[in-house]
Amino acid sequence: MSSRAVQPQPPWVGAEGRLPLPWLERPLRQALTQKGHALLLHGPQGLGLFEWAMVVAQSWLCEGPDRPNPVACGRCEACHLLQAGVHPDIMVLVPQALRESLGLSVAIDEGEGATASSRQTPSGGREIRVADVRHAIDWGHQTSSRGRGKVLVMFPVDALNKVAANALLKTLEEPAGTMRLVLSAFDPQALLPTLRSRCQQLAMDVPERDVSMAWLLEQGLDAPDTLLAGAGGRPLEVLALAREGLDARLWPELPAAVQQGRADLFQGLSMHRVVDTLQKVCLDLMSRAQGAPARYFPAEALPTGARAEALAAWWLTLQRTARHEDHPWNAGLLVESLVLQGRRCWPARESRKPHVR
Ligand SMILES: [Zn+2]
Repeated sequence: MSSRAVQPQPPWVGAEGRLPLPWLERPLRQALTQKGHALLLHGPQGLGLFEWAMVVAQSWLCEGPDRPNPVACGRCEACHLLQAGVHPDIMVLVPQALRESLGLSVAIDEGEGATASSRQTPSGGREIRVADVRHAIDWGHQTSSRGRGKVLVMFPVDALNKVAANALLKTLEEPAGTMRLVLSAFDPQALLPTLRSRCQQLAMDVPERDVSMAWLLEQGLDAPDTLLAGAGGRPLEVLALAREGLDARLWPELPAAVQQGRADLFQGLSMHRVVDTLQKVCLDLMSRAQGAPARYFPAEALPTGARAEALAAWWLTLQRTARHEDHPWNAGLLVESLVLQGRRCWPARESRKPHVR
């Protein structure tokens, strides 16, 4: 794995006509055949839901000569305005806490579009606020500046609280003026059913392995296959792992590190990443104990002999911790206790004997 920091790419069809992520081609064309005024795009994290929403919006606003090709050209004036973050007919509502990781530029922040979402919120910036939703709806009632209608992108709608979701419902029922909406959700089942039913829903699947591998190599990652498995096939999740220092060399060592009670390998990671990674170790150990194939780690990286009841108890602890990972824990102590419980899944006699690969 290269140590060079991987930067998020601009979420647009660029001037050379390239999609920001190569596997968006099919889902984009699928979205562009929909005639409704509100789309709800959903799928797991790490696939590029945000980029998908942005290229749908760009394609709706594109003024290129290639119509009826529905995909944005990347070269017309509208596309240039979007790429510069100053198109007057798009608003992007994103929780403050996500802006940097999405690579949202200052330009988008300061354009007419996104001023509302750039303010700090009491939720630590993790929510889309009701005031911002109302502001967006008012904005949607204004006349489109370039005559192609207005587009509101909201990512993710999982970040809407109940009041904000209710404020949005009415607009979904009776759209404001010429506004169209692109909403994205990681977990559509958790949304208000009335919100869901007022949108046309489209799901994104995990891209084909070859496509992901080629793209990850292009991003400068060495041997991305190990991490692609670790990330459940989600290429942007591989970049997130790499950014946090979990590289292809370290990743296969983690199950043995648990068996040896080595919490040091997990220190310094975000609590979300620690719990997520330990859950993957635990799941793979449980699969292996039942003779099923491992999903996240190479089979040879998984020490044998873990006791099934102890794994089940460890799994429950990890699940409980996952539900409260925003809690202000003493992170160092918590990581240590989670790893130690993992170590106790092996009988004491074996846990003194380090697993050798
Ligand atoms: Zn264009």
